[in-house]
Amino acid sequence: MIRKIDKKTVGEALRAAYDHCKTESGGKNADYIPYLKNVAQNLFGIAACLPDGSLMTVGDTDFRFGIESVSKVPTALLAMEQYSDREVLHRIGADATGLPFNSIMAILLENDHPSTPLVNAGAIAACSMIKPVGDSSGKWRSIVDFLTALAGSPVEVIDELYRSESDTNFNNRSIAWLLKNYGRIYDDPMMALDLYTRQCSIGVTAAQLATVAATIANGGMNPLTHKQVFRPELTPRIASLMATVGFYEHTGDWLFQTGLPAKSGVGGGIMAVIPGVMGLAAFAPPLDTAGNSVKAQKALSFIAQRLDLNIFHTTRCVMAEPAPAEA
Ligand code: GLN
Repeated sequence: MIRKIDKKTVGEALRAAYDHCKTESGGKNADYIPYLKNVAQNLFGIAACLPDGSLMTVGDTDFRFGIESVSKVPTALLAMEQYSDREVLHRIGADATGLPFNSIMAILLENDHPSTPLVNAGAIAACSMIKPVGDSSGKWRSIVDFLTALAGSPVEVIDELYRSESDTNFNNRSIAWLLKNYGRIYDDPMMALDLYTRQCSIGVTAAQLATVAATIANGGMNPLTHKQVFRPELTPRIASLMATVGFYEHTGDWLFQTGLPAKSGVGGGIMAVIPGVMGLAAFAPPLDTAGNSVKAQKALSFIAQRLDLNIFHTTRCVMAEPAPAEA
């Protein structure tokens, strides 16, 4: 069954989700990265980007926050684009860990394998793969240029966040060296760690994240710039990674309730990809115990239900073609 929805219906769903969730007070800001502890708790925004390039927003969708783990998605895509999806599967993997994002135990349990580019271990391994290997500034340019192309607008590091993360990332340092020990780092380990830390410190808005999600949903064609950013066959690959591990140890609960491939970050952002239909993003800093924004989850879940976006549902939601202009 097909359900056609139009722009107006999407706009109404965003507004209703905002009103429904704005008083939600659960969760607390990440505090293991000092910068994140001090971001205003009551910020809240929701954005949708449609295949025709319409960007719909409600709330604080222009506020720049730390992209954090949502950055694992673009870098995984870039690695698949530069090498191939098979090579990323072989070198990193695509298995859910069912464990926290920074788990060292997961590396040991996976038999020396980072398991997926969407947890810290796999993301550091992905940074080590990014070309040009051996050239830190060249690799950084590749990562930033790729994210900029996905977002359709420039992004830059929040320096204070980068300093804050670099001063406190001892667990991630252990992960990088452990992977090196197992032959799962494909460049200098401390260079890979620094690239990972820097990419997590990039500032984005909810509107930009919705555009990144829409570019992925649109088979790699950015709906704002019309630029083909990556090969269309990578959309199902990255969407499946997001669906299996996007919320770490809470991923199954999320997928069961919403049916949305999505990725969270400890900065409070979440982006959801509905392949062929739209990209969604929500932002609110307070997190649950797995590091996922409480309010953003609630808002996206509300929208998924309201618009029948669950990708496992027998009703498939599609955007109605706009009515032809009057002669
Ligand atoms: N930079 C953070 C870390 O490595 C990202 C974690 C997250 O967003 N889940 O701990």
